[in-house]
Amino acid sequence: KIREPENESYNSYAPGTPERKALREEIDHLKNQEIEIPAIIGGQEVKTGNLQDVVMPHNHRHKLADVHLCGEEEVQRAIAASQEARREWATLPWEERASIFLKAADLITGPYRYTMNASTMLGQSKTPHQSEIEAVGELADFLRFNAYYLQELYEKQPYSPGGMWNRMEYRPLEGFIFAVTPFNFTAIAGNLPLAPALCGNVSLWKPATSSIYSSYYIMKVLKEAGMPDGVINFLPGSGADVGDPVIESELLAGLHFTGSTNTFQYLWKSIAENIEQYKTYPRIVGETGGKDFIFAHNSADVDALVVAAIRAAYEYQGQKCSAASRMYIPESIWPDFRDDFLKEVQDVKYGDVEDFSNFMGAVIDRKAFDNITSYIDYVRDSDDGEVLFGGHYDDSEGYFVEPTLVLAHDPKFKTMEEEIFGPVLTVYVYEDDQLDETLELCDTTSPYALTGAIFARDRHVLKKMSDYLRQAAGNFYINDKPTAAIVNQQPFGGARKSGTNDKAGSAANLMRWMSVRSIKETT
Ligand code: GLU
Repeated sequence: KIREPENESYNSYAPGTPERKALREEIDHLKNQEIEIPAIIGGQEVKTGNLQDVVMPHNHRHKLADVHLCGEEEVQRAIAASQEARREWATLPWEERASIFLKAADLITGPYRYTMNASTMLGQSKTPHQSEIEAVGELADFLRFNAYYLQELYEKQPYSPGGMWNRMEYRPLEGFIFAVTPFNFTAIAGNLPLAPALCGNVSLWKPATSSIYSSYYIMKVLKEAGMPDGVINFLPGSGADVGDPVIESELLAGLHFTGSTNTFQYLWKSIAENIEQYKTYPRIVGETGGKDFIFAHNSADVDALVVAAIRAAYEYQGQKCSAASRMYIPESIWPDFRDDFLKEVQDVKYGDVEDFSNFMGAVIDRKAFDNITSYIDYVRDSDDGEVLFGGHYDDSEGYFVEPTLVLAHDPKFKTMEEEIFGPVLTVYVYEDDQLDETLELCDTTSPYALTGAIFARDRHVLKKMSDYLRQAAGNFYINDKPTAAIVNQQPFGGARKSGTNDKAGSAANLMRWMSVRSIKETT
């Protein structure tokens, strides 16, 4: 029996520590080699020759790798390889499957720790701390806790009165699962193909090309942990070249997705168009956009609010789906908040992540840079909003955007409404006696409902705010920043246009990847 795991602890990488030295050595090692990243189909490395450069966002002239991109032919091979692997994998005793996942977690937190961290730092421009908490800690937590949840699920059996034996057989889905993963979290990239695989499914995995570097090391870990060939098939490539042929396969049994709302809706519609030909109705699980809020009451602790705003808006350059990007502050505490915030944000250093003292790195790529900076330009040209801090950007070496604070004069200002996915926080100052109206605005201004935080000291007010905003977030925080959910502590997912809310890192998520056979046997 697997005992309930504990969350993995994090290295601090403080100056003088041996782990800091080891991480630096791994960074140098990875930077000074240029690798080729193949597709991996049925355990075989496949080099398509259709190459794309993999560069560092904070120094885009530095190439880390060449990646081989896939198309229709590789997709068909991967489907065949997955079905070949499925025969044994689906009926393997679950303990055998779980042992591979537990071994992978130990490799990630042991011999691969610095590789997972450094590859995420270099490939996705994350600070050592941000990489440690997710590419090491959260990924290992997903692997360990999912194995534990699976055991708990399998133990759940129905009532059998005398004369019969009733039982539930937790079968994997028939076909394969398509995992489409985002650039911003190595842990999510790993979890999306792996959670279904733990339940006995086989996966086709299309990683984001911009985070292919760390994703490739996950494949290496899995191989070493003993994952059988063909269970997880790694298919770098574009949505059109890889995604479209996958969706057209009659064996598609599920989509496990994290990424943009548009892509998710496109995939959902494509699945709908093909619905008649699938052998089984595909399960669709997705986490998409957000326009996450921090809402303060005039009884809020201003110091706590400043820390929460800076961390939630700027850690990982605001590229977490959970990042706070709009804030509502009452007039009476606004001057205090503004002065403290402007003082603190001066200390937010950004630049090359290999300088361990930086708090922020670069945004992921040119497309992201252009999109984020177009919002900053929009604010500059508008009468309904102004840049209070930051707003500079520079892509000469890396895709750097300064942490930026915007003041909105209109609560429905563009940057209060639209997802930017960058280090831009917009504040709207409301009149203290307009609490109800402003809560209503907060609930209705964006179509999303991923994360949100409320700040107040007054208990009655907290209750009222929480009730008003009941549907406005899938992950809700009281007097804390709305980011950094931990596996088994705050199961993660959003509703409305933010996703199907099948909480990542929970038994509820695993149930989506199983189809139960109810068996009654007369004794
Ligand atoms: N789970 C992460 C957090 O709580 C966010 C995940 C995401 O960006 O998709 O910050």
